Amino acid sequence: MSAIILNGKVVADEILDTIQSSKCAKKDLVIISIGDDPASEVYVRNKIRACAKCKTVCYHINLPANVLESKVNSIIDRFNADPFVGGIILQLPIPKHLNSRQLINRIKPEKDVDGLSLANMGALYTGMPGHRPCTAEGVIRLLDFYHIETHGKHVVIVGRSELVGRPLAVLLSDKFRNATVSLCNSRTSNLKELCKQADILISAVGSPKLITADMVKKDAIIIDVGINRDEKGKLCGDVDYENVKEIAYGITPVPGGVGPLTVATLIHHLPFAPLKGD
Ligand code: NAP
Repeated sequence: MSAIILNGKVVADEILDTIQSSKCAKKDLVIISIGDDPASEVYVRNKIRACAKCKTVCYHINLPANVLESKVNSIIDRFNADPFVGGIILQLPIPKHLNSRQLINRIKPEKDVDGLSLANMGALYTGMPGHRPCTAEGVIRLLDFYHIETHGKHVVIVGRSELVGRPLAVLLSDKFRNATVSLCNSRTSNLKELCKQADILISAVGSPKLITADMVKKDAIIIDVGINRDEKGKLCGDVDYENVKEIAYGITPVPGGVGPLTVATLIHHLPFAPLKGD
């Protein structure tokens, strides 16, 4: 039997519908992008579209690739001080002459809705309140929505980036989810054997068809975070979807899996504006 499709778009729409039908509006979102990275343009467009869906105001500021760091600092400072702005995102990647770590840390932690500042990372690793990185939290939301048990399960995460793999490992192994996590990287020597042991297999690499059917345990849950283009230029994930879905119990598609949840989680992180008259 073919796997259940874990439809991230349905979960994301539910989050956005709840925001939209709420009596309060979310505070404004500001997206700062630098240069003209084509993939970033698509991601920014998706965020603007999702904001429109739940009537959240979104400003996109696109700065030239040669912008000075001092100029970006002053823009961040302006929005840090603006009470109508609830979230500021620095769309990555940015040109190499700029220090992304320094710029992200300049965003006030409560407005760092991407959850990538050191303050929010520290909160994640110590279990304190704060914004969690959106893709990692999005994956947790997807697992929760489909009532996928994590307690006592072996989760294998392929990819250890700060953005996805590492925060996911922390969230899944905490005292609320109690999974046993194997976190793999490009030098993991027995990747196939490890993946084959996974009750839940998560791939966040950026390599089409890295995860093939012979790496998957029967009835495993497969979460594909990867976003790639195949040889025909079609959007695809890291998983050989057509073959793996015949073995897995549940699988996320690409597109329509984790991507929409990343965006919905981001908007969920924005605080609500006070009601008029408050
Ligand atoms: P990244 O920073 O490039 O990290 C990739 C990770 O994969 C690294 O840890 C790398 O190992 C590991 N890796 C590379 N080749 C491997 C291999 N053959 N076997 C095992 N591990 C391998 O990427 P990222 O930012 O985490 O993004 C990963 C993918 O997710 C990309 O396709 C990206 O577009 C996508 N993404 C999707 C969403 C979404 O919303 N769906 C959000 C963010 C990212 P080393 O550390 O050893 O180099």
